Amino acid sequence: MADHDPTYDAECLFCRIAAEEIPAEVVFADAEVVVFQDINPKAPTHLLVIPRRHLASADDLTDSDADRDLLAALFTALRRVARDGGLEGYRIVTNVGADAGQSVFHLHFHLLGGRPMDWPPG
Ligand code: 5GP
Ligand code: ZN
Repeated sequence: MADHDPTYDAECLFCRIAAEEIPAEVVFADAEVVVFQDINPKAPTHLLVIPRRHLASADDLTDSDADRDLLAALFTALRRVARDGGLEGYRIVTNVGADAGQSVFHLHFHLLGGRPMDWPPG
């Protein structure tokens, strides 16, 4: 149960979405990963790909076997939902820290597509 899961942070919005305590438009979920619609989309397709396990950001990832497996699962999900969404090109973004624009401190990858993308990002 979420209350007894050491990877669950009761104060964390995305932990609570992963635990289905807060509703979201989930498009894919498995044992390690949840993918849902961003509430304030910045492109026709704007999905958030998160691990169920709480990590504040990509800066908390290590070279442990568990984190390697987690990254593989996250990128497998990213590729899968991009293909399911019919995207030919897309952008994967993860903001690390407030200076980079991170506002939710649970690791997430933005998957953006469905329109031309500018470069560099602002
Ligand atoms: P960040 O700014 O941390 O890189 O990205 C956080 C993202 O979470 C933002 O794009 C924001 O729109 C999205 N977000 C914030 N609160 C909620 C919520 O309650 N539900 C969903 N689905 N997305 C959220
Ligand atoms: Zn969390």
